[in-house]
Amino acid sequence: MTGLSVRNVSYAYGEKRALDDVSFHVPPGAFCALLGPNGAGKSTLFSLLTRLMTTSGGMIEIAGFDISKHPRQALAQVGVVFQQPTLDLDLTVRRNLSYFAALHGLSGREAESRIEAALERLDMAERIGERARDLNGGHRRRLEIARCLIHSPSVLLLDEPTVGLDAAARTAITKHVHDLSAQEGMTVLWATHLTDEISTDDQVAILHKGRLLQQGSSQEITNGAPLKDVFLSMTGAVA
Ligand code: ADP
Repeated sequence: MTGLSVRNVSYAYGEKRALDDVSFHVPPGAFCALLGPNGAGKSTLFSLLTRLMTTSGGMIEIAGFDISKHPRQALAQVGVVFQQPTLDLDLTVRRNLSYFAALHGLSGREAESRIEAALERLDMAERIGERARDLNGGHRRRLEIARCLIHSPSVLLLDEPTVGLDAAARTAITKHVHDLSAQEGMTVLWATHLTDEISTDDQVAILHKGRLLQQGSSQEITNGAPLKDVFLSMTGAVA
């Protein structure tokens, strides 16, 4: 099975159980929102998906690779944007990207053409010579998304990528990533607690207190009601 599969995954910090037998599947090319209030376990799951942490409870498969048995192949398929920005603010846009490309063994013309294509994809081409520090918050985030495309991953993981952005930047970034899935067939897992970032065609996995409450298309889950209301009644969280 390709795309992203999470099967019976559990994780505890000491006595504190953060994930409890979580299973869901994101089909290849789908956009799936991992929707949950603060403390639901979203970041914990992201740490497991990117192997910052490991667990013996359950199995994670990325693009067909079991992450515990074939971590290198699995992670080669992953583009990740963490909640905390990780740009080097003193470097230009180009240098931030070429440094990342080099880490993935890409240099010269190949790196250059991938950098240009990724920036183009995020409507950032004209910023290539600017210092990251001089970009606004929305453009910095777009640069991070461009960066995670450089090594041509098939699965994108974004952990609350719109936190701290104004409404216009939030809308632009949400649209860009939806387009990457719809137009380029990328499998996307987008963690959020904001239901307005989710469209009716998206897959949604609702996580609450470490448990997966529901998974399906937004339409199936809501049956025509606003997702915001359904989420509130399931979790008590206002989104
Ligand atoms: P979310 O990203 O959805 O806000 P987290 O994965 O950060 O959720 O947290 C899930 C649960 O695990 C919360 O109850 C949180 O307090 C707890 N938790 C997260 N990180 C740690 C940690 N390093 N040590 C102990 N408990 C933690």
